[in-house]
Order: sequence, then C-alpha cells, then structure tokens
Amino acid sequence: MALSTITIDDLLTSIQSYHSCESDLEFVRKAYQFASILHQDQKRKSGEPYIVHPLSVAYILTNFARADMNTICASLLHDTLEDTDCTREDIVTNFGEEVALLVEGVTKIKGVVFSSHEEGSIENQGKILNGMAEDIRIILIKLADRLHNMRTLEYKTEDRQKAIAQETLDFYVPIAYYLGSYRFKNELEDLCFRYIDSEKFLMTKHDLEEYIEETKEEAIKIVQSVKKSLEQNQIDFQISYRTKNIYGVYKKSCEGLKISEIHDLWAIQIIVKEIPTCYQVLGIIHSLYPPFNQLLKDLIAKPKTTMYRSIHTSVFGENGKLIQFQIRTEEMNEIAELGLPYYWDSPNVKMNEELHNKFQFFKSLVEANTHANSTKEFMEEAKNDIFTSMIYVYTPMGEVVELPSGSTPIDFAYKIHSDIGNKMEMAIVNASVASFDRKLKNNDIVKIITNDSIEGPKEEYLGMCRTNLAKRKISEFFKKKESSI
Ligand code: MN
Repeated sequence: MALSTITIDDLLTSIQSYHSCESDLEFVRKAYQFASILHQDQKRKSGEPYIVHPLSVAYILTNFARADMNTICASLLHDTLEDTDCTREDIVTNFGEEVALLVEGVTKIKGVVFSSHEEGSIENQGKILNGMAEDIRIILIKLADRLHNMRTLEYKTEDRQKAIAQETLDFYVPIAYYLGSYRFKNELEDLCFRYIDSEKFLMTKHDLEEYIEETKEEAIKIVQSVKKSLEQNQIDFQISYRTKNIYGVYKKSCEGLKISEIHDLWAIQIIVKEIPTCYQVLGIIHSLYPPFNQLLKDLIAKPKTTMYRSIHTSVFGENGKLIQFQIRTEEMNEIAELGLPYYWDSPNVKMNEELHNKFQFFKSLVEANTHANSTKEFMEEAKNDIFTSMIYVYTPMGEVVELPSGSTPIDFAYKIHSDIGNKMEMAIVNASVASFDRKLKNNDIVKIITNDSIEGPKEEYLGMCRTNLAKRKISEFFKKKESSI
C-alpha cells in the first residue's frame, strides 16, 4: 500500500498558512536538505526513503500545533543525532543552540519506548515527563513522532504493534489529553484500538459507519434549520459537524450504552465572534429543540482543566434522538483545536508559570518531579495520580479540581495545599458533613474546614486516601515530627 508522501513543498505551504517570514522558510528548507543528506542511505520499514519520516513529523506539527520554526527544524533533525554521524556541534553551527537543545531533548528519550513492562521503559517515560516540565516542545515533537510511527505501524511485527500501541494508549494518549490536543488524542486512540483489538475495532467502526449513514440526513436537517434561524437573527457564525471517534464510541459501549444512546455521537459546532453571542445562540437552539437539562454544560464560565471552553447542550432532535451542540468563540475554537500550543507566544514559547498553573496536569507533574527521590518514585506517583481515570470536583468557590477517581476529602485537601490537609477538621461534601474516607464523585462540591489547633494528620489517614501526593505529604509530616522530637 502506498503511503501518501509529504514533500518539502507541502510542508512549506502548511507553514505559510500561519507564518510567512521568508527567511524562516529558508531556514526550514535548509534543515530539510541537511537532514536529507544525513539520512540519504537509510530506508523506513515501508521501503520509503527515511527522510519521509522527519518530514511527516514536521508536517504534523504545523497542522496540529502550528509549531514555531525552531520546533519545525528540530523535528526535521530529530533522528540525526541518534541515527547518523551528525553531532550536536553540527546542529549548533548550522541551526543554533535552541534547535540543538530540542533535538538533544528528543534524542535523550531513547528510540521507541516499548511496552510499559519492559526494562528501561520507566526510566524513559520519566525522562519524557521531565522534558515536558522543561520545554513542552520536546514532548510535542515526541507526540508527532509517535503519531507518524503509529500511522505506519503496519510494517512492524504483530508483537511490536501490540506493545507500541498499548504504550501509546497508556502513556501518550493521556499526555495528548492533558495538553488539550484533541486531534492528537483522537487519532492516536483509534490507531491504538485498531492494533490492540482489531476485531472489536472493526466491529465498532462498522456499527458507527452504519449509524452515521442512518442518521446523517436527520443531522443535516437540524444543521439547516439552525442555520436558517441564526441567519434570521443576524448572527455572524460558522457551523460544522463531527462525529465521535471510534474508540470514544467503544468506551461508551463499555459503559453499557447503545450507539443510539450516545448523546454526543453527533456534535454540531457553532463558532461565533463574541461570548454573549454564544448565549444568544444557545437560546435560539433551545427554542428550536428541547434540551436535555442535565446535559447542559457551561464550560465557558467553568473551563475544563485542559482549558477547553465551550457551551455544550444536548437536545432532542425530530425523532427524539439526542444531538449535541457545541457553541464557542473563534478564540475558544482555536484552543479546542490546538490545546496548549495555542498559548505559545512565539517566539517566546517556553512554558511560563502561568501555563503551569492553568493546566493542573503540569502542576501535579512538577510537584511530583520536585519531591520524588528517584525516577521510579516519580513515575509511580505520575502513574497513580496522573495517568489514571480522573474525576472533577469543585471548591466552594466553583474552581474545578482534578483528582484520580477513588479520591477522598483527604486527597482533595492535600491537592489544594499541605496546610489544609494537615489542619483538616471537617469535610463538607455537597453541604453535608462527610467522612474523610468518602469516595468523591464527579461534580461534588467539597469544602474543608481547618482548625489551627489541630496538630496534624492522624496516621490512619494513610489508609484513607488514594493519591501518592497525600500519602507522601502525610508521611513527610510524621518524619518531620519525629526528627523534631
Ligand atoms: Mn523518529
């Protein structure tokens, strides 16, 4: 099967859609030529010239992340240090220190990381997460690298396919999710699913396609009628629709839902200029189709922890089937499409503190990284607290707090601040007093009442919390206490 091959001209055209500086384009062309010569005797497993790979990785980064020029150049050169005679000095001389740092960062994460059970994998994943905290562009190159390798996975042996796909699902997909990069996440998920369980993949794909075929006409009719109504109200808008990815449908079916019961299988997206218009559009939609109240979410007022903002409402269509509307501004739509890279203030693209705080994932990551005594400990905390299914609860002030499912008020308290955990007297969940080991649920409102006269946590709290973070902080408290006696 022939792969659609990206050329340098495709890459340059793609860059020009968001960045048109002539000298920068020349810089990219130079990196391409440099990498082409270095890789000229190498071939991919598919039989194609090796340069197709870095070129595809760079292309993905322009499309999925509107990457800056140093990132593009580094992605073109990302395999040169490892696989060719090229040295760090060669890269510094030709492309500068920053590109060299990025290439080096990617190279440190050795080759392909295999199944999480294999030796060296923990060490490697630790390096990736460390790299993320340092310069997010390193992991973006790695994500694009993994995506292209997943797209071309058919050329590997079956064992390798499964191992690589499983690791991608366990490790890279959550990263893509936390970065708010849905395009990476959705495509990676479907590719992983295809290789991990091809039978279920094909079945779900078939069911989804059949259902889309059956309901398409109805969806288009709804789009048309909303369009008409918005025009009558003189609203400046763009409208489009999408369906859920295959893996997303499969996950819902595991929860026991039939395909016709998935409320956001079809999502109609309406993009407008200003925030108040979003609410006006919401009113118009609700006057046309009755909403299912429980599924109305104002993620503009309360963004997700991935910074995704939009209004979501699911309404009953003409045949009583639910269909979702997503209403947001152009800016929010860019955030929805790009995720964290949206915030890059090129050329000053380093992660700043504000972004670390905005994305709770980073906060947890940096926290775990700072306190862990070894890579192993760091990865254990990351796996237990971050790479797991999450619930979202609220503070009394309405701020969203992200916690692993199974968390208790103790985990909540320590996530907010160690002083709050240490001085915790009472926990209130949804306006009633709750035991400290109560398992929190999505959307719970949690309030912790502290008392300064409390000396510290009780030892039994260790058995009542879920996160490594809380356990570590409680243990730290007792260590401190011991050493002060
Ligand atoms: Mn590569």
